[in-house]
Amino acid sequence: MQIAIDGPSGAGKSSVAKAVAAKLGIVYVDTGALYRTVGYYVRERGVKKEDTAGIVACLPHIAIEVRYENGAQHVYLNGEDLGDRIRQPEISMYASAVSAVPAVRAFLLDTQRDIAKKNHVIMDGRDIGTVILPNADVKIFLTASCEARALRRTRELAEKGIKADYADVLREMNERDHNDSHRAVAPAVAAPDAAVLDNSDLTPEQTVEAVLGLIRRKVGNVL
Ligand code: C5P
Repeated sequence: MQIAIDGPSGAGKSSVAKAVAAKLGIVYVDTGALYRTVGYYVRERGVKKEDTAGIVACLPHIAIEVRYENGAQHVYLNGEDLGDRIRQPEISMYASAVSAVPAVRAFLLDTQRDIAKKNHVIMDGRDIGTVILPNADVKIFLTASCEARALRRTRELAEKGIKADYADVLREMNERDHNDSHRAVAPAVAAPDAAVLDNSDLTPEQTVEAVLGLIRRKVGNVL
């Protein structure tokens, strides 16, 4: 089973995908963590976000491994689990910058497809339904208003102990979404066969129910 959930940042993709994975007993794959890990390495090396050649030169020095420990995804960078260090707003901007570089997307392609080959998955990202898993059984494009998404992201960061101001989050989120949806390679757009779900006015529980409803409609009663 392959379920693809794409959409802009802060739409609640990861929370809903985690809940659905737990209900269906399948693996949740957070692909943003992979781009964040590359962004983290690039930043640590002092390479600027705009330095495409510098970013590409980093790739041979990066080994990424995804492991599932007690049901949770851990991404190892050269043998080290970075944990929540990749969640910092600065790393979000680096992730968005490196993700526009075609060599980075190619570098991460097999890692993502391999996981989907070996497991039943619900995978969230920006190009899962369009590029990574074009034959996914279910494709959902989850979205919400900019304000609703920025508010959620600010709260989420606060829960992780990361200080963030709503206005900064909103500005950075708009910048990142603009980059992600306008880049030349694998832009964040809904696949033609994806169901678009706007959850601006839905609670997280209602979003999970709506997503489960879409899954049932596509693949029958899997619960
Ligand atoms: O989903 P998350 O916010 O963690 O993703 C961080 C960044 O990684 C996104 O802004 C986007 O630029 C990039 N990304 C991507 N393709 C994916 C997942 C994430 O380009 N499949």
